[in-house]
Amino acid sequence: MDQAHIDKMQAARRETPPTVEEYCQQFVDAGVDKETVHQARIRLQQMNLSLRLTYSRIILNKASSKVRIKAFCTECMGYEKYEVADCTDKGCALYGVRPIYRRKVTKTSNNDAPV
Ligand code: SF4
Repeated sequence: MDQAHIDKMQAARRETPPTVEEYCQQFVDAGVDKETVHQARIRLQQMNLSLRLTYSRIILNKASSKVRIKAFCTECMGYEKYEVADCTDKGCALYGVRPIYRRKVTKTSNNDAPV
């Protein structure tokens, strides 16, 4: 096995996101209590991979209030962050500060152009 192959394998390994259990082990290593780890494990299993890193920072107490609000609203909307903008609960304490995510606009195909 040559060095280039080893480098390629190491790069691929770095890109693999941690599993739920790896995140939970990080929490245990950081001294997070057992009940919090249990509840965090349930949430990690429900959310998609892109949200897990941010959520783990929250559990490790390394996230700002703004990030926590974003995470809370996203969880509230079933982990569909683009749904937060459509929240109708104006009585919620977070309504006025909820994050508004914009979907990326994609170019329409020529088939959609008016004739
Ligand atoms: S503002 Fe809306 S999305 Fe955010 S926590 Fe409140 S009800 Fe949920």
